Amino acid sequence: AEDPKRRVLKDVFGFDDFRPGQDAVTEALLAGRHVLAVMPTGAGKSLCYQVPALVLGGLTIVVSPLVALMQDQIAALRLAGVAADTINSSLDRDANVAAWRRVAAGQTRLLYLAPERLMTARMLEALARLDIRLIAVDEAHCISQWGPAFRREYEELSRLRDIFPYVPIIALTATADEATRTDIAGQLFAGRVETLVLGFDRPNIKLGIEAKQDSKRQLLSFVQRHAGRSGIVYCLSRKKTEEMAAFLEKNGVRALAYHAGMSKDAREANQNAFMTLSGVVMVATIAFGMGIDKPDVAYVFHTDLPGSLEAYYQEIGRAGRDGRAAEAHMLFGLGDIRMRRLFIDDEDAPAEHKRRAHGRLDTLIGYCETAQCRRQILLGYFGESAMPCGNCDNCLDQTPHSDGEAEARIILAA
Ligand code: ADP
Ligand code: MG
Ligand code: ZN
Repeated sequence: AEDPKRRVLKDVFGFDDFRPGQDAVTEALLAGRHVLAVMPTGAGKSLCYQVPALVLGGLTIVVSPLVALMQDQIAALRLAGVAADTINSSLDRDANVAAWRRVAAGQTRLLYLAPERLMTARMLEALARLDIRLIAVDEAHCISQWGPAFRREYEELSRLRDIFPYVPIIALTATADEATRTDIAGQLFAGRVETLVLGFDRPNIKLGIEAKQDSKRQLLSFVQRHAGRSGIVYCLSRKKTEEMAAFLEKNGVRALAYHAGMSKDAREANQNAFMTLSGVVMVATIAFGMGIDKPDVAYVFHTDLPGSLEAYYQEIGRAGRDGRAAEAHMLFGLGDIRMRRLFIDDEDAPAEHKRRAHGRLDTLIGYCETAQCRRQILLGYFGESAMPCGNCDNCLDQTPHSDGEAEARIILAA
């Protein structure tokens, strides 16, 4: 007999194959287990609960933090012919009443709610009378106090497992930070949850790190090796983006700067040039990148150490979206470590927060200093296991590093 989840995938969503992780998550939910799914942005988390929702029938409740996110999802589901509804404060009363009638009549498969709406006594009481088969908590990192996206309304969701003891719950997030993940598992599931981490590998991106000596020269020679290709160069300071862009321009490379201190017009003009022309190098602070989806970015070059391994992963992920060979290259030096430590110490934040930030920095430094396959370290951090990749500097260069200088720097940094 045909696999029902595959049939839904094909007939409803029009896809022939599950992405890494989607089938395992679906399988676990159909077997009645709780799941914490950790997958990067764009990996396809929505289908991880939408497919089981349709296989299970009955009603699936989806908790989502933002009305805009819900509306997008519902529009997409309705286009696919799926009965999806939301009840939220941006709709007028009549629309909410009509939605509730459909839900109560059993016509709705997926009901999207904000956490504060779901967790009212009246809503919970009304839902308890319905045939609820699955609960999905999207953007589940919002429950973690340590994360940047903490939402107090999410804390209430820890009551769900007691209120609906027989309903499998799936929590979804792209945040793979170990502390956050443990927090989610503890709060939503009291630790009793199957955690699935998948889809983080970007095998076409070659990973490399080089001791920082003369950043400008090192950048120029790297960029010249990728002449004619589009690339992103990340710098720590605004001033440096402008200096680096000017230096590249002086050496015949089409380069533009981007940082939050520029006028909105200048930023937009540079961003448009980067998006529409090919072969432009964007020299930017981390202000650049959110929502940038340019498929043919051939490389991401870090002239300075990023803030964490997660930030690094996010940033290099902007390269090679077209699946072609791409490169992530970083310059790494002692001064960077010191600078990052100062950043953390100067922050106006609780001691526990700083302790964690230093821990994350240590993890990143470990990645920079390793002689092991970098991809193994990177994926290992996200909880994925992997074989040596053959596409990082350490795999490609098996001769042991005898760079006494780099080592001395690290020792002296302690
Ligand atoms: P996430 O929530 O993880 O960021 P989404 O659920 O929004 O990702 O999905 C990202 C994109 O991937 C969507 O356009 C979706 O249609 C597409 N997608 C998801 N699963 C598959 C699949 N199995 N095959 C092809 N495309 C998929
Ligand atoms: Mg999503
Ligand atoms: Zn490797």
